[in-house]
Amino acid sequence: MYTMLSPCDMCTGAIQMYRIPRAVIGENRTFRSPGEAHLRSRGVEVINLDLPEPKALMDGFIANRPDVRNEDTGEE
Ligand SMILES: [Zn+2]
Repeated sequence: MYTMLSPCDMCTGAIQMYRIPRAVIGENRTFRSPGEAHLRSRGVEVINLDLPEPKALMDGFIANRPDVRNEDTGEE
């Protein structure tokens, strides 16, 4: 499965449920979920491409809508 960011709970659950062997992440600097470590502990290969494009997209989103981002990630 490919995810733009660190896999959220829904992506993590889907990867497990459908036994997807590999998760490829665009970047995880703007948000790192516990899903990465959880998937690795379950034998899923997690590859972080650390691409500049998704980070720039997220940086713009966080700057414009910090309220929505914080609500989504549970951060204050
Ligand atoms: Zn997700």
